[in-house]
Amino acid sequence: MAERILIVEDEPNLAESVAYALQREGFVTQTAADGPSALDCFEAQPPDLVLLDLMLPGLSGWQLFTALRKRSAVPVIMLTARGEEADRVAGLEMGADDYVVKPFSMRELIARVRAVLRRTAGTEEPEAEAVLEAGGVRLDASRRETWVEGVPVQLTPKEFDLLAYLLRHRGRVRSREQILAAVWGQEEYLDERTVDVHIRWLRKKIEKDPAVPRRLLTVRGIGYKFSEA
Ligand code: CA
Repeated sequence: MAERILIVEDEPNLAESVAYALQREGFVTQTAADGPSALDCFEAQPPDLVLLDLMLPGLSGWQLFTALRKRSAVPVIMLTARGEEADRVAGLEMGADDYVVKPFSMRELIARVRAVLRRTAGTEEPEAEAVLEAGGVRLDASRRETWVEGVPVQLTPKEFDLLAYLLRHRGRVRSREQILAAVWGQEEYLDERTVDVHIRWLRKKIEKDPAVPRRLLTVRGIGYKFSEA
């Protein structure tokens, strides 16, 4: 089923080109030019994601965001004008899922939409186990400690999060995109090579021979997995 995106933007040309770009990618779109009609749209047919311009006539983007959050946890990407750093920080603190600064490219916008949808759909995450153990690696998530064959190993926070994520999904391949979204989230717009670099560092710490990994396996063309054995 196509995902439905509600575009709340009072600038008609921009709303139209965003709608067009999203439709070309297979999304279904609705557009609203102000807060009250956005809420009407929302109630008539709840979208999978909302693109919300903060500068709206009448009901402000902030008020609308608060009104939306009272109704649902629908993912929201805020569209902000350049230089409104305080707005962006406040938006993320209020629980927006991401923000895009105007002027933005349609490619960037679509990448953000996909990333947020992936992240919010990722609720098939297994319950966070306190102690993860496989292949001679033991990781205590509450104490943030790691042992390999019973010997404590010092990991950086990101290495730890990455290892925890792969251990939690052990035996199953995770793509670089999935890993980035889960471990780095919305911190930055990072390159997928970030994942490769951290895998390399992790291998030096948890593999007997980092060149011939037995635990952190590369799945060519897809990503990585923690060996089940
Ligand atoms: Ca506007």
